[in-house]
Amino acid sequence: MIIVMQAGAAEAQLAHVVARVEGLGLKPHVIVGTERTVVAVVGDERGAASGGLETLPGVASVMPILAPYKVASREVQPEPTVVRAGSLVVGGGTVGVIAGPCSVESRDQIVATAAAVKAAGATGLRGGAFKPRTSPYSFQGMKERGLELLAEARAETGLAIVTEVVSPEDVPLVARYADVLQIGARNMQNYRLLEAVGRTQVAVLLKRGPAATVEELLLAAEYILDGGNRQVMLCERGIRTFETHTRFTLPLATVPWLHARTHLPVVVDPSHGTGHSPLVESMAAAAVAAGADGLIVEVHPDPKCAASDGGQTLDFAAFSRMMTVCRKVAEAVGRRL
Ligand code: PEP
Ligand code: MN
Repeated sequence: MIIVMQAGAAEAQLAHVVARVEGLGLKPHVIVGTERTVVAVVGDERGAASGGLETLPGVASVMPILAPYKVASREVQPEPTVVRAGSLVVGGGTVGVIAGPCSVESRDQIVATAAAVKAAGATGLRGGAFKPRTSPYSFQGMKERGLELLAEARAETGLAIVTEVVSPEDVPLVARYADVLQIGARNMQNYRLLEAVGRTQVAVLLKRGPAATVEELLLAAEYILDGGNRQVMLCERGIRTFETHTRFTLPLATVPWLHARTHLPVVVDPSHGTGHSPLVESMAAAAVAAGADGLIVEVHPDPKCAASDGGQTLDFAAFSRMMTVCRKVAEAVGRRL
């Protein structure tokens, strides 16, 4: 349920409501908006009807949250969440662009890419150090050494680092280096991993599983929010369909659909979404036109030699052209990029 506080309700009244909710064995999430403060109450509410919450001082109204995802829903927080992680801002009219290689491969590779994508206007640097590969015989990433190289690239360019964490026990290590923890598509429903990143205060980029519905994506985000971490971005990266001309099918209707139901920003990945570098620029521009709050794009100094995902990776010149097009589209739809 949502407990809506009266405008100007006192701190002590809010604290009293929170204590009463906890006393009922339920979990309160206080959301301070520009117009009103609400307490989203989660847990098994069956016994709460008798709690008399609507009669407490400072309470304006109590209503049910209809969506199955609670803290993620627009009902609870009408204002959009803006994710801020170092140089990266995603949401609230700013389109944040995260660019970089699929995998960190060497110091030269990551530092040169960071400098090039920053010059073209990216505000975040991506690079996988822990890679979830379909085959156990494929390159699995440089692990901690890769994280150190990402930190060096950040020190040289100031770009925020976005990097994947694949297991709960690695979260403390990756969180020491990352500005944004990426949860990959294959791990969207790894609930212990979602709980582990929910216990940090590091921003999270949660990618949609290729066979997950958008409602399942929102419920996965709810695990992170319920843990107390509110800096969550959702990422549409393409789903599995019968179609084979692209690696995945990139459904951009996800963007306005999610915007209508959640306050969380939505990022689109046209690299994994298509699997083919010649398609990336058009789909990035289309994503911005559809209202995406951010893009995550694979860029490498020499894509044909990339250790992973070279076929969908842009070189520096192609990324720069993509940014020029996306900037024009952003301006046309009233956003900054
Ligand atoms: C990646 O970003 O390199 C990646 C592995 O993406 P996904 O989890 O979407 O497949
Ligand atoms: Mn990749």
